[in-house]
Amino acid sequence: MVEYINIKSLSKEQFIDITRLVQGVIERVGLKDGLCVVYVPHTTAGIIINEDADPDVIGDIERHLDKLVPKFGDYRHIEGNSQAHIKSSLVGHSVAIPVESGKLLLGRWQGIFFCEFDGPRSRQVIVKLIKEV
Ligand code: ZN
Repeated sequence: MVEYINIKSLSKEQFIDITRLVQGVIERVGLKDGLCVVYVPHTTAGIIINEDADPDVIGDIERHLDKLVPKFGDYRHIEGNSQAHIKSSLVGHSVAIPVESGKLLLGRWQGIFFCEFDGPRSRQVIVKLIKEV
């Protein structure tokens, strides 16, 4: 069984902290110990774990990704959104987090961020919970 989190991004690029939403799924389902896989089924979005204390960290990541993957380049994709596809590939589409006593085992400064690279759009995040045996 999978759970879905629906997200509406509001701009072309946006990193959205979904940590509480993922923790909410764990509590709703009642998983105590196991593994939480958070997966993004989109080709122009992604998912990362990084610092949620200082918003400048996420800003720095966004700005640096822009330097790595410029908006205009020697791209062939007819849709014109190759920058978004490449950024999505770089950050990846899933993270896996251990769950202990009903809580995500994230570090003190860690949060889970949905990464929009081609918004604004309606998006889905899939959460798969695996119970420890
Ligand atoms: Zn495309």
